[in-house]
Parts: sequence; structure tokens; C-alpha cells
Amino acid sequence: MTMIKNVHNQAFEAIHTILNSLDALVYVSDLHTYELLYLNDYGTTIWGEPTGKKCYQLLQAGQNSPCSFCTNHKLINHAGNSTTVHVWEFKNTYNNRWYQCRDQAIRWTDGRLVRIEIATDITDRKQMEEALIEAKSTAERLANTDELTKLYNRRAFFNLGLSIAQQSGQALAFIMFDIDRFKHVNDRWGHTTGDAALIHIAKLTQAILKPVDILGRLGGEEFGILLPDLHHEQACQLAESIRCRFEEQPLALNGQIIKCTASFGIASITIPVIHSEKEAQNLLETLFNSADQAMMQAKRNGRNQVCSATELANFAQNNH
Ligand code: GH3
Ligand code: MG
Ligand code: MG
Repeated sequence: MTMIKNVHNQAFEAIHTILNSLDALVYVSDLHTYELLYLNDYGTTIWGEPTGKKCYQLLQAGQNSPCSFCTNHKLINHAGNSTTVHVWEFKNTYNNRWYQCRDQAIRWTDGRLVRIEIATDITDRKQMEEALIEAKSTAERLANTDELTKLYNRRAFFNLGLSIAQQSGQALAFIMFDIDRFKHVNDRWGHTTGDAALIHIAKLTQAILKPVDILGRLGGEEFGILLPDLHHEQACQLAESIRCRFEEQPLALNGQIIKCTASFGIASITIPVIHSEKEAQNLLETLFNSADQAMMQAKRNGRNQVCSATELANFAQNNH
């Protein structure tokens, strides 16, 4: 029995029996001295005997003074009267389990206002919620990621592009590249080695780029790079250095050297004032198509080279 100042009467015994049967923590503490006045069996089983202890000493870990998260001040108003029930969720620092706490100031047997808390263990629900949040973010990540190269997939790449394409006044360059004669790589070395070559190309490219640059696998052996704040000439230089890197660092796998080159197309623009997402979409499509055409030109010219479209200076006027 855990009544600190025992009150031996039948009514109390009845209430105490009820409180001890609850699958929840029930305690009462002094609002000002924090002295524990009552703790039910659920509480003593987990936290121990309350006699002579303050709530923060017994119910929390390593606490020598009132807790920073104490809710006492929320339970009484300026006039010193009881306000409303305060319900909140908290991870107990002693056993690291989650509780829904229902706190209230009530009149104690001697007339003073005290704090009563009824706390129910909601750890299972919290863990389920956390698992759901985790599953949601995993699903989102998978939906935006190309499984093989771990780069953004086409959909995520385009969506990111849409927000970048709305940053009016900024330069924006786009590089598209496609691995040359990749069918031959598969035919000669097998599909698994082809996959390894795609991963290798993705890593080589990513290593050259800055954190603000966005690299995506647009499909098959075709990749795209969105380069915020980069001007046409700089984009051409960057594409040339990526092209050289592919030549200089072929994939070494199982004692074999697998060489891959790529053909590059470049388009760029200074983003005009954009009024809607539809306009941003049009701008992006125009940029992609120009880079695609430049890339096809690079293929026609004999592959393993960089071709650039002229800068799309008049986009805004053409699209009104
Ligand atoms: P080009 O220089 O004209 O681009 O020639 P190419 O052979 O690269 O082009 P083509 O479009 O004829 O062939 C692309 C090849 O890329 C065929 C396809 O099997 C291969 N490919 C596409 N996706 C993957 C993949 O995920 N893994 C592997 N191993 N191969 C892929
Ligand atoms: Mg190809
Ligand atoms: Mg292709």
C-alpha cells in the first residue's frame, strides 16, 4: 500500500483498490514542493516506493531539480485556481516508454491544490506511428530513386527541375548525355557488366558535380544534369571534363577493362519571369528538347563529343 499519509477508512480503501487495478500510472504530488503524496501500484512496480521522494526524483532519470518539461504551471491560473486538464505525450526518461499524460490540479484532502497525473503507456502506438513514418519516407525515396544507380529517376528529376525553373533571373544549364554503343557493351560483356558500367558512369559523374547540381538517370543509358546558376560556356567546359573522365577512368572489373564513352548535348537559359507551373514546365521541356537535339548531333558527328544548342535567349517572348 502506497499512501504516504495513511488514511484508514473504507472509502479510501475502495478508491485505492480501483486505482491499483488500473493499467496506468496514477500519482499525486504537491504543486509547489513536488513531494509525492500518492502513487498507485502500477507506479511503484516500475519506479519504486515514493516515500520521502519528490516526483522528479522518483519518476524521471538523473533529475535533481524540477523537470524542464514540468506542466505544473499549466494547471493553475494567475489567481492560483485549477485550470483545465492538460493532455500531452511524453517519453519517460526513466524507462524510455511513451505515455499519454493527463494532468490536472485538484484539491487534496487537506485543502491545498495538488497535481494529479494519469499516464497511459502508448509505446506500441508510438512505435507503430514511427514505423509508418519510416515506411512512408522509404516509399517516397524509392519512388524518386533509380534502383540501379541510386540517382534521381526521371520523374524526380523533372519535379526538381520544375522548382528550379521557377527561379526567375537565374542562369540554368542542362547537360544530357547518352552512353555510346552501349548495346555493344551488353553484347560483349553481358548485362550484369553493363549494369556495373552504368553504376560506374553515375559515380564518375556525381564525383565531378557540386552539391547544388542535380544528376538523374532519365532512362536506359541516358542521363541528365541540371546546373543551377551555371552559364553556357561553363556548362560546355563541365561536359567536356565529364567526357574526358569517362575516357580516362574505364571500369575495371574481374581483370577486364570496360570502356564507355558518351555523347553530350547542352542547352542553357537565363530564366525569365515565370508566372505559372505550366510555364516552368514549358521552359523545362524546351531546355530538354534543345539538349536532346544537340546530343543527337553529337551522335551524328561520330559520338564521344560535346555539342551545344544555342542559348535559349528568347524563350519568354516565344511562350506568351
Ligand atoms: P548509341 O551510341 O546510338 O546510343 O548506341 P546504343 O547502343 O547505346 O543505343 P541503343 O539505344 O541501340 O541501345 C541502348 C542499350 O542500352 C540497349 C539496352 O539494352 C541497354 N540498356 C538500357 N538500360 C539498361 C540497363 O539498365 N542495364 C543494362 N545492362 N543495359 C541497359
Ligand atoms: Mg546509347
Ligand atoms: Mg539511349
